Amino acid sequence: MIEFQNVTKVYGDTVAIENVSFEVEKGTTTVLVGPSGCGKTTTMKLVNRLEDPTEGTVYYDGTDTQEIDVTKLRRNIGYVIQEIGLFNHMSVAENVATVPKLKGWESERIDARVDELLKLMDLPPEKYRDQYPPELSGGQRQRVGVARALAADPDVLLMDEPFGALDPITRADLQDEFLEIQSEINTTILFVTHSIDEALKMGDKIAIFDVGKVVQYDTPKNIIENP
Ligand code: ADP
Ligand code: ADP
Repeated sequence: MIEFQNVTKVYGDTVAIENVSFEVEKGTTTVLVGPSGCGKTTTMKLVNRLEDPTEGTVYYDGTDTQEIDVTKLRRNIGYVIQEIGLFNHMSVAENVATVPKLKGWESERIDARVDELLKLMDLPPEKYRDQYPPELSGGQRQRVGVARALAADPDVLLMDEPFGALDPITRADLQDEFLEIQSEINTTILFVTHSIDEALKMGDKIAIFDVGKVVQYDTPKNIIENP
């Protein structure tokens, strides 16, 4: 579904990633793990073309991303970041409906989808639909962010430290909830974290980064057995 082939990204004189290759199979979760500054976020941004490669190729469903219209590409890719950037002047329901509206869905279909996702994320719609992000806790805002990213059934979901700003208990709750919905949604997921525990819990495959390189790419089981 997503393939990096010998990808290098250079910013000025900083080599952010060098000669990175890995492949993410459809419907699986791949976690990029490693310390701060080792190129995880850059790798993510190369998928939805917030950045373009200096060398090498990123393929999306077999096509070089450089040959895909950026707007079209991004409509199929949900993006969740740590400080999620919800629209504070828009209600929870309006936030979640953003991409379905852009896609021109009928309003009844949008309403049904919003309610379905809020339920899935443990935010009862009758209570939360019409609230505004500043009225919510950090964990609730992050749930809305995940619901928004999933709203239009993206083929791919990029999650960059999605639970990183949360206290440990809320974080563990969200990880568990996300594991549950993951099995229902069949979305291909790239997940960034600097926590190896989170990587082992969330990933079907784990790419371990060390200063711009993928030093190990394997299943959690094999990584535990051959560290
Ligand atoms: P992370 O939480 O992944 O460690 P960073 O703090 O490295 O994030 O980067 C945050 C944002 O700032 C990213 O969007 C990244 O592209 C940008 N950024 C990081 N380093 C630099 C830099 N040296 N110059 C300009 N922008 C940078
Ligand atoms: P991570 O997500 O693992 O923290 P990043 O991909 O954000 O790492 O950054 C990798 C390296 O690239 C870091 O040295 C960072 O400072 C640098 N970097 C990231 N974005 C930019 C940018 N926009 N301009 C310059 N340097 C950047």
